[in-house]
Amino acid sequence: MSRSIALAALLPLVFCSLLPARGESAPYVPGRLLVKFRPGADGAARAAVATELGATTLRRFTLIDAECMKLGAGVSVEQAVERLRGRPGVEYAEPDYELRVEGAPNDEWFPYLWSLDNTGQTGGTPGADIHAVQAWDVFTGDPHLKIGVIDTGIDYTHPDLVANVWTNPGEIPDNGLDDDGNGYVDDVHGYDFANGDGDPFDDHSHGTMVAGIIAGKGDNLIGVPGVCWQAQLVAIKVITYNGYGTIDAAIAGLEYAVTLGIKLTNNSYVAQSYSQALLDAINAARAAGCLFVAAAGNGGSNNDQDPRYPASYNSANIIAVTSSDNVDGVALGANYGPTSVDLAAPGVDIISTFPDSMYRTMSGTSMATAYVTGVCALAMGQHPELTAPEIKGRVLAAVDVEPYLTRKVLTNGRLNAFTATVADVGPETISGIALGRAFPNPFVERTRIAFDLPHPGHATIEVFAANGRRVAVLADRVLGAGPQSVEWDGLDAGRRPCASGVYWARLGFEGRRASRRLVLMR
Ligand code: CA
Repeated sequence: MSRSIALAALLPLVFCSLLPARGESAPYVPGRLLVKFRPGADGAARAAVATELGATTLRRFTLIDAECMKLGAGVSVEQAVERLRGRPGVEYAEPDYELRVEGAPNDEWFPYLWSLDNTGQTGGTPGADIHAVQAWDVFTGDPHLKIGVIDTGIDYTHPDLVANVWTNPGEIPDNGLDDDGNGYVDDVHGYDFANGDGDPFDDHSHGTMVAGIIAGKGDNLIGVPGVCWQAQLVAIKVITYNGYGTIDAAIAGLEYAVTLGIKLTNNSYVAQSYSQALLDAINAARAAGCLFVAAAGNGGSNNDQDPRYPASYNSANIIAVTSSDNVDGVALGANYGPTSVDLAAPGVDIISTFPDSMYRTMSGTSMATAYVTGVCALAMGQHPELTAPEIKGRVLAAVDVEPYLTRKVLTNGRLNAFTATVADVGPETISGIALGRAFPNPFVERTRIAFDLPHPGHATIEVFAANGRRVAVLADRVLGAGPQSVEWDGLDAGRRPCASGVYWARLGFEGRRASRRLVLMR
């Protein structure tokens, strides 16, 4: 705790000292500028800007109609920003800020992944997990869903990842050609925007660990299962071997994701400086249907007061994630935010895939973010009809509300894979049919579950244990229209008393389902 307080106390100083200022070193790339032109700016207006600054175009972003420029000798970033302020045809110009990933792997690793199914094996609180095992009883991931890992790359040869790494069917490796004509040369498993080539192999380790959490191959008797047992991981490298990257690379990476039609990206990197260009790119990705999961950052501070980007941008397709530990606490050193951080997920001593066929543990909001991305992937696979903001709403509505997260995150809760993926959360907006409250709930001997049918028809009401096993059928017949209810006496199909715990009542009607959580307390 003392370390977290010390970090929180130090951060404002660090933050201030990193702000761009004349004559001081600043966290952006020297001699480089991001320029967003107004829609009406023609070629001549753009060329005039380049000429005045002695600049050449390094990269053009079609996603947001902006450019990354290399400034001529003798023109500083500060001078260039100043000279373009208020210029007709230029919407804004900003430095190419630095971003980074944090977290160092540990050498030791734990025998079990407490985060997926916490039985207290690492000294933690049983149940302080994301209920992945229950979700897996029903669904383990869509093998065709592309997930963009915007990070340090991926060791795509790792035995626990190789089956779940995307391979571009139209690209011939290492021939120096853009065989499939998508604008990127030799992008076989993704692209390396940090170094400008088609090989996003991970020379750091962070991205490989994130990838293993999202979709390490499950049920293959080796290593660790990811949240998704199958998926198409696309390696989008924007961070170099030393853990640092740039806004330019991040925008380029997101543009690539949109080009590939990716609907879900994991973004476990943090910048301390606000970039309008990155926000524009995220909003353009939203328009393309892409969900953007982002890490709150590791500093023990409050993002509401001291924002970290991209997590702190206000956008309907961003999910901002902090980290919880295995004894139901906010992780030491994790940033939080009552309005700017959406939910918590496990992020302490997480074992995952490490380059060169190894496994290590790592802690941080990066790891927590990967869990949320994995659960978003499960939810998208089960509910392909939902938009990115709807998936976000579903994952946020599905959290387990925890007292220790009160006023720490927007939802006051921790990720729940089962509810987000399988159960119908919230009122009938998703299912179109009504399963009302159960009363009493929690209950000791019996509870009555209300429901409402729009017209007469065949309905089922079943009760499932938290592990996905069906324990009772309360109705399986034609029922009338309107509000009504059924009772569950806490007995299974063999009339034996069920153990205390969490159960799910599920109404099925004309192919639609709605679920309600029940808590039995003997
Ligand atoms: Ca290509």
